[in-house]
Amino acid sequence: MTSFVRTAHPARIVFGAGTLVTVPDEVERLGRARVLVLASPDLAELGDRVEKALGPLAVARFDGATMHTPVEVTTTALGVLREAGADCVVAVGGGSTTGLAKALASRTGVDQVVLPTTYAGSEVTPVLGETADGVKTTHSSPEILPETVIYDVELSADLPVPMSVTSAVNALAHAVEALYSPEAEPVTDALALDAITLLTRGLRRLRQDPRDLGTRADLLRGAWLAGTCLGSVGMGLHHKLCHTLGGSFDLPHAPTHTVVLPHAMAYNAAAAPDAMRRIAEAIGAVRGEDAPAAVFDLIQEAGGPTSLCELGLAETDLDRAAELASATPYPNPAALTRDGLAGLLHRAWVGERPPGGTAPATARITEQVVESFAGTEDPRLRHLLTDLVRRLHAFAADNDLTQSEWQYGIDFLTRTGQLCSDTRQEFVLLSDTLGLSSVVDLLTNSRTPDSTPSAVLGPFYVQGPPELPQGSDISRGAPGTPLYVDVLVTDTAGRPAADAIVDVWQSNDDGFYDVQLPDLDGPVLRGRLRTDGEGRLRFRSILPSEYPIPDDGPVGAMLSATGRHPYRAPHLHFLIQSPGHQQLVTQLFVRGGPYLDSDAVFGVKDDLIVDFTPRTGPAPDGRTDAREWRELTFTFRLAPAAGAGS
Ligand code: NAD
Repeated sequence: MTSFVRTAHPARIVFGAGTLVTVPDEVERLGRARVLVLASPDLAELGDRVEKALGPLAVARFDGATMHTPVEVTTTALGVLREAGADCVVAVGGGSTTGLAKALASRTGVDQVVLPTTYAGSEVTPVLGETADGVKTTHSSPEILPETVIYDVELSADLPVPMSVTSAVNALAHAVEALYSPEAEPVTDALALDAITLLTRGLRRLRQDPRDLGTRADLLRGAWLAGTCLGSVGMGLHHKLCHTLGGSFDLPHAPTHTVVLPHAMAYNAAAAPDAMRRIAEAIGAVRGEDAPAAVFDLIQEAGGPTSLCELGLAETDLDRAAELASATPYPNPAALTRDGLAGLLHRAWVGERPPGGTAPATARITEQVVESFAGTEDPRLRHLLTDLVRRLHAFAADNDLTQSEWQYGIDFLTRTGQLCSDTRQEFVLLSDTLGLSSVVDLLTNSRTPDSTPSAVLGPFYVQGPPELPQGSDISRGAPGTPLYVDVLVTDTAGRPAADAIVDVWQSNDDGFYDVQLPDLDGPVLRGRLRTDGEGRLRFRSILPSEYPIPDDGPVGAMLSATGRHPYRAPHLHFLIQSPGHQQLVTQLFVRGGPYLDSDAVFGVKDDLIVDFTPRTGPAPDGRTDAREWRELTFTFRLAPAAGAGS
């Protein structure tokens, strides 16, 4: 059993696209009325937008936020704040501007509303780092934590790609070190793993379309979660090393984090195996890749810096850096030795890939293919192709797919295609038996809780079925238990859908559809009928029976290789079209029939299992056949068409 302590920091988070406009409401919510707007010289334009949104609430402006929160800058800003009588600061920008807001709040107790434009995560921590006389010190207190954070995905969309990459890796580092922190606890662990997944996904997609708001939302949400981890638990070697390199050698904050992270992870890997395994899983590391190597590859593929040399650190500084970094002890999974740190720094300086796994060759091919889609005009097509390629490559890599296995796969698909004709659709059958048709059907069609559930179309629907009048016998005398169908078609409020077109089709008593019986004369057990003025439809047929899907092709071979039977539970197909309503494709299953719980195409839904009630005596059409007959009554409820009023 693990014991733990967790302290949650009470900040209000507003997340979305275009949320900048909520800034006056958020200030008023805090009961504040006099705002000092903070920005950096680079982002003065964003400061203007925030000031404009605040209207009369904005009483002063300071655009002088700069790196490392120097106390001289804070003193100047403090003068502006006091002169204006401000009771709140609103900061828009990266960690540097947030730092200034925190510095002012720690001195005066003013409330802070922060609109972050990078992924640094400072906005959700109660920690402030300040520089006085060239020395950066950090301290923590509850007043330092901003009261409200407004995450506006649109603001981060302007962050240039190189800065976005390093800033996102800066965030990744918070999540990584949280997982092996001595204070790690379940909530922070969950946040960290989610952050790693989101940041990884965002980093992988960033270069394709830097302004894509979905990608930016992943990165910003990941940054928030990672920042929350940073504010909750203590960090280790990686953050201390970056602090040393930034403070004593003036290396840039986020790029330094980017270069050091894989090496700090590699240093800690053997001492924190569980954290590394979870990190690798969250990254979706290609099989065989260890977490440090996976992070290195991720950075390299995203185009981030990989060596301290390229950040401008002199090789001659490495010894002093190792000395400084090992001077004061602090909690870290692996023991900190001067020689150990010197080795780490040397590898980071050169930009060596940490050992562990041999996946980069396949990963590089994946990225090349993904990049080849960059010119695709249709964004949905590009997204689908990209994701498909990533998953296909991962499938091959994760399973060490052999050439002969893949050749078998190609042959299987070839045979599947060769079997397709006007009357046999082996690909639909494959999709059905793999459950994919039912998944797509659920995603597309079952979104209205009060409409009749849909079910797959199946491979035996034929376009243009014969038009038949109400009351017809669609079985055309085929042998079987007589079935009298009496259904209603309505909207979700129960109003009848008059003159709806209803296509019905089913198998015969032996389990075959007419298209499977080439000697049969014309369409049988299928037809197109119309509801009457009351939305009612009556016709005669025979009781559907269970049947095997065609299993003489590749799909049948797959079923027998996996020990599956090919049977479908007995059912009647319906395809209903009515103006002003969504088309409904569904099936009604015979309650008590066989295979309801093991339907070969995963098509059975509880709400579609209905009574085909046994009856004797005179049938609805007046026939006095002594045999048993069945009666099916049902009400189909159609969802309104998209854009149609109810
Ligand atoms: P930053 O705020 O200095 O921003 C980096 C650069 O990006 C700046 O030049 C800035 O003008 C530019 N920029 C920011 N947003 C932009 C946008 N949307 N479009 C174009 N350019 C944009 O750096 P940072 O990486 O955000 O933050 C680093 C600072 O934050 C460091 O001082 C670090 O110590 C501190 N920090 C503190 C904590 C904490 O918990 N106290 C946590 C993380 C970082």
